Amino acid sequence: MDALLSKAVATPRALSREELVRLLEWPDVQELFAAAYEVKRREVGCVVALRGLVECGNVCAKDCLYCGIRKGNQNVRRYRMEADEIVRRAEVARDAGYGNVVLQSGEIESEENTAFIESVLVGIHERCGENFGVTLSLGEQTDGTYRRWREAGAHRYLLRIETSNPQLYARLHPDGHSWSRRRECLHSLRRNGYQVGSGVMCGLPWQTVQDLAADIEFFAAEDLDMIGMGPYIPHRDTPLGADAEWTRQVAAERLELGLRMIAVTRLHLHDVNIAASTALQALAPDGRERGLLAGANVIMPNVTDVKYRSGYRLYEGKPVDDENSFGSRDALERSISAIGEGIVWNGRGDSPHWRGR
Ligand code: SAH
Repeated sequence: MDALLSKAVATPRALSREELVRLLEWPDVQELFAAAYEVKRREVGCVVALRGLVECGNVCAKDCLYCGIRKGNQNVRRYRMEADEIVRRAEVARDAGYGNVVLQSGEIESEENTAFIESVLVGIHERCGENFGVTLSLGEQTDGTYRRWREAGAHRYLLRIETSNPQLYARLHPDGHSWSRRRECLHSLRRNGYQVGSGVMCGLPWQTVQDLAADIEFFAAEDLDMIGMGPYIPHRDTPLGADAEWTRQVAAERLELGLRMIAVTRLHLHDVNIAASTALQALAPDGRERGLLAGANVIMPNVTDVKYRSGYRLYEGKPVDDENSFGSRDALERSISAIGEGIVWNGRGDSPHWRGR
């Protein structure tokens, strides 16, 4: 094996910016994925952790220029699930053997919403037990809100920084959206005792390979426990996606870039949880499996009631039916064992990096 790949496989967090760039551009992509897979096999095993994803609502105060549920998109019917509906979906996830859920929604900051989520957390723990895992992905909130949700039983939080480059962030968001506040939120989550996850989109307009290498350095500097990344996929009802070029060739390139980011993140960080995101699956039917083979170890089957799915279309081609996102236990088991991996049923799937902390 090439000396740089061997070093990356042997030693965590030892790569320079230039070395990260070289790996991101590695000519033999299969060799890159194989090296990342070797690290994954050693650090987490050939196993996949599951999270049941509940898309609780698409009401959002933010207006991110790339996102299909941005406030300014008039073509979305807005919804908010009731508390008992959310608890019911957690039970569906428990009955399916997932062991934990991720509650995700647009960003709302209000006392009413904070109290609402508290009541949902209490309900989930009453019905699904104390050991049932709950991850939140509800955007930027005050320190006090994060504390209350932690006390009510959430133990992991996902908040993508979207890009580690503040100038690029500013081009992708209108005034009033603050990169610094987002990073401050990651620190607040850490202080409040969460396992902290973040991540970025790759293939964004104006983004360079240097930016992507810096993103991976950001993950290390923030000492993240979990990484959720995915290719940017244009959405036609957004300022950024309105006239994006869209061909099969472009889709294949976006997918490969997403897989390369997973592989190089695994090669640098070694023991974190890395999700094979739904966006990979939107670009190819076997996108998630390919993500696992490039070094990811988590998949997030959607357990949202099908009637809400079309309301949560963040990007074009996001799967909205059960076939493509949830499927039966057998189908999931088959597609995972076909790539030589096993599923951890009924687990919380905590981050090995967090356990070692
Ligand atoms: N607003 C919440 C979560 C909802 S959006 C939060 O910020 O925590 C979840 C993720 O979808 C975002 O973090 C973003 O990275 C991703 N996303 C949004 N629009 C996208 C697009 N057009 N292509 C790919 N990913 C997108």
